[in-house]
Amino acid sequence: MRLQNKIILITGSGSGIGKATALLFASEGATVVVNDLSVEKGEETVEEIKQAGGSALFVQADVTDPDSVKSMVDQIIAAYGRIDVLFNNAGISGVGAIHEVEPEDWDRVIKVNIRGVFLPSKYVLPHMMERREGSIINMSSCIAEIGLGRRASYSATKGAVLSLTKSMQVDYAPYQIRVNALLPGTIMTPFVENYLRNSYDDPEAAINSLKKRQLSGDLGRPEDVAKAALFLASDESKFMMGSPLYIDGGVVFG
Ligand code: NAD
Repeated sequence: MRLQNKIILITGSGSGIGKATALLFASEGATVVVNDLSVEKGEETVEEIKQAGGSALFVQADVTDPDSVKSMVDQIIAAYGRIDVLFNNAGISGVGAIHEVEPEDWDRVIKVNIRGVFLPSKYVLPHMMERREGSIINMSSCIAEIGLGRRASYSATKGAVLSLTKSMQVDYAPYQIRVNALLPGTIMTPFVENYLRNSYDDPEAAINSLKKRQLSGDLGRPEDVAKAALFLASDESKFMMGSPLYIDGGVVFG
């Protein structure tokens, strides 16, 4: 068991990559705190973990709301006394080139994808600093490194998360806290399905064109990213600090 006795908080783990990671981490011995905006989806993840014999707790919170995040962290500390790993996974999509994006849509994407990393980190870090250990995984995207059209707000946020990861690593290295980033390519999740449905008249053609951009010739699965997150969460990656980890089927070279 690679995560035996670890207490791990995963934001946005009611669906997609977060859910697959929660299931994998629990199967590796972690107690997983499943967070999501949606009570229904979050409780479903916890139920699946418990049915498989794992340990999990659901805490509903909006990662953009300071009171909500602080009370989630307080609840976890009261229940378990510590948080070993924080996976800042929750995020939303944003579609459109700059001239097409409405200011309120821009702000919403910025808020969830950047504030949603800032707030959980802000309230978890003091506990990790006190214990002088911890691992934080921030969800960026390969879009931080490659140019994809009509994804202005989303690209801006994922680039920001990557540079924030490096800045955090410098600040918290003295406390033996590691901060790394995941950069997935296109992973078939409800997030991507919604994006394709809302952005293209012919989603199947769009999927085929995305596949052609991959060296792998295929798109990723949530489990592919979960395995990379497992590596960053475990002590096996103890020499990785402030690093971007690509799980993208080679799309950055495509
Ligand atoms: P998803 O939509 O399947 O899951 C995201 C979850 O986050 C949902 O359950 C949603 O309810 C939750 N969420 C949204 N806003 C929230 C909030 N304010 N507070 C708490 N929870 C909230 O998406 P996914 O594809 O699994 O994406 C997860 C992360 O991975 C996102 O940050 C996304 O940007 C990133 N990512 C995804 C891909 C991909 O191709 N799927 C690629 C690169 C990066």
